[in-house]
Amino acid sequence: MGTDAAISVTDSWGKVWGHDNLFVCDASLHPTNGGYNPVLTIMAMAFRNANHITKSL
Ligand SMILES: Cc1cc2nc3c(=O)[nH]c(=O)nc-3n(C[C@H](O)[C@H](O)[C@H](O)COP(=O)(O)OP(=O)(O)OC[C@H]3O[C@@H](n4cnc5c(N)ncnc54)[C@H](O)[C@@H]3O)c2cc1C
Repeated sequence: MGTDAAISVTDSWGKVWGHDNLFVCDASLHPTNGGYNPVLTIMAMAFRNANHITKSL
């Protein structure tokens, strides 16, 4: 995830740059990890991004 298409795959909502309707909602949104278990962060981002998708329909 990032704000610059040149150095990231998706925007901050998990939407793949250059595509109108392709979202990533799993752990691959953060290819590097912190020092702690990731599942709660993965789930929180999935809920956040899914909420954004439903609002943008
Ligand atoms: C041994 C182990 C222990 C772990 N313990 C912890 C822990 O204690 N706490 C913690 O927070 N994290 C833990 N993790 C990490 C956590 O499991 C992962 O970070 C998390 O499950 C990743 O979620 P995900 O949805 O990105 O991928 P996944 O959970 O791997 O889900 C991917 C899904 O996609 C499906 N799939 C794959 N290819 C296709 C296809 N072509 N078509 C359709 N479906 C497909 C798979 O069947 C799978 O259901 C552990 C990981 C491992 C391996």
